[in-house]
Amino acid sequence: MGLTRKDVLKLAGASAGAAAVGRLGLAGAGALPQPEAMAQASVLGSDSIITRDVAVIGGGATGTYAAIRLRDMGKSVAVIETADRLGGHTHTYTDPATGGKVDIGVIVWHELPIVRDWFARFDVPLEKASFDSPGMVSKYVDYRTGKEVTGYTPSDPSAALGAYAAQLAQYPYLEAGFDLPNPVPPDLLLPFGDFVKKYDLGAVVGTIFNFGQGLGDLLRQPTLYVFKNFGLDILRNLQVGFLTTARHNNSELYEKARAELGADALLRSRVVATDRDAAGYANILVQTPSGLKIIRAKKLVVTIPPKLDNLFGFDLDATEAGLFAQFGNSAYYTGLLRNTGIPDNMAVTNIGQGTAYNLPSLPGVYSISPSGIPGLHQVKYGSPYQLSETSVKADILAGVKRLRTAGTVDTRTPEFAVFSSHSPFELTVPTGAIKSGFYKKLGALQGRNRTFYTGAAFHTHDSSLLWQFTEALLPRIAA
Ligand SMILES: Cc1cc2nc3c(=O)[nH]c(=O)nc-3n(C[C@H](O)[C@H](O)[C@H](O)COP(=O)(O)OP(=O)(O)OC[C@H]3O[C@@H](n4cnc5c(N)ncnc54)[C@H](O)[C@@H]3O)c2cc1C
Repeated sequence: MGLTRKDVLKLAGASAGAAAVGRLGLAGAGALPQPEAMAQASVLGSDSIITRDVAVIGGGATGTYAAIRLRDMGKSVAVIETADRLGGHTHTYTDPATGGKVDIGVIVWHELPIVRDWFARFDVPLEKASFDSPGMVSKYVDYRTGKEVTGYTPSDPSAALGAYAAQLAQYPYLEAGFDLPNPVPPDLLLPFGDFVKKYDLGAVVGTIFNFGQGLGDLLRQPTLYVFKNFGLDILRNLQVGFLTTARHNNSELYEKARAELGADALLRSRVVATDRDAAGYANILVQTPSGLKIIRAKKLVVTIPPKLDNLFGFDLDATEAGLFAQFGNSAYYTGLLRNTGIPDNMAVTNIGQGTAYNLPSLPGVYSISPSGIPGLHQVKYGSPYQLSETSVKADILAGVKRLRTAGTVDTRTPEFAVFSSHSPFELTVPTGAIKSGFYKKLGALQGRNRTFYTGAAFHTHDSSLLWQFTEALLPRIAA
């Protein structure tokens, strides 16, 4: 059954919920203003109304997984994705000169059956990832000055990792989600810097900082988030070896998934208004490149970062809005620099001179490192809070210049071959909220109003573990 012209008008009238969102002050940047949506929706014909079992919001790691698996289970789906591709944080750059591929987003996955099966389904071969770079030269530099950090050598984490693992083993439930006990164990609430001091784990800090890039101010983050990011299955994979794509193109799976979804993947599209109606449908007004469409779906799967400003157009009720309003976020940026003047085999890593555990000052560069393509270096940059892309790029270029003025590396002024903001990145709530049951309340949203949630905010920034999390939700979504 499709929507009548009257229904469309009613929906495009922004619905009580969407109006409430407006009252919450959500100025949806780039979204269609409601009056304009109303005017356009009123002339929508039945060919603009798409009825599906499930609408999936966001086509990154979890949205793509949910959509394809639900189709495999016999459900019809539509994916609404703002970007012009699927994959989200998986981002592969193709060098126009050589045709070489560089993954500037997601690099590796866990050695797990779900990962093997998922890639096998798309005939994308995997191999063990190697982190050895023969012939690579490392310089450890404080980007604040451009000078090499005197007397610095990375610490050997082996012994301390054992002690860290023993701590982690007390919280096995963190591997599956945020189902925290009540009361929340006090160690999980400690700022990670205090936790490290309490258990004398200083030797693991550098390793966790490197692995957990994007986490922002590591030492201030509640230990809970560090454990979620650097957990038991990560430690297991450090032993058995992570997986990566044998053809060194991590986007291949998403390109194939997009081809399979065909018109069911609505790219360059965004939600304008949503109404989860009494008849049991979610009606979603979507702005697409070919005009406004209504997706009429029995279930909704939300996989996007659930920050209020990213949920413009959703008919959030007070419970949902009250929870999502508590999320803050760190920020993470990546790119490729052409013609830095840094030798092709050299990595220049940011290390703090005289800082706790030699952690670099953030916002700042994590590292500029070889890409495998001559004349092209990867750059990674982190911040505890969101910055404009312009200021991040300017700070990166200033850092490259300081390497030259300090006489550390004879750099030139490079240009960005590609730049990518992966922000908002880690979504966190304050310790007080964790302590008072935030994640119990968040978990209770699953299935409410026929809406399900997956994605990094609901578990962790780890595709493999997110696919497991999403898989466990599927029976309820498909029911
Ligand atoms: C540089 C980098 C490296 C990483 N490396 C790894 C790694 O090696 N291994 C690993 O497992 N994980 C890695 N991660 C973590 C990675 O974020 C997760 O594994 C995974 O991508 C999270 O999946 P997701 O579905 O939650 O988010 P995403 O994959 O980001 O998907 C969210 C999607 O929603 C879309 N979207 C956002 N807002 C809206 C909106 N309002 N409407 C419609 N669509 C919207 C986005 O465009 C995006 O496509 C890395 C992350 C970054 C940034």
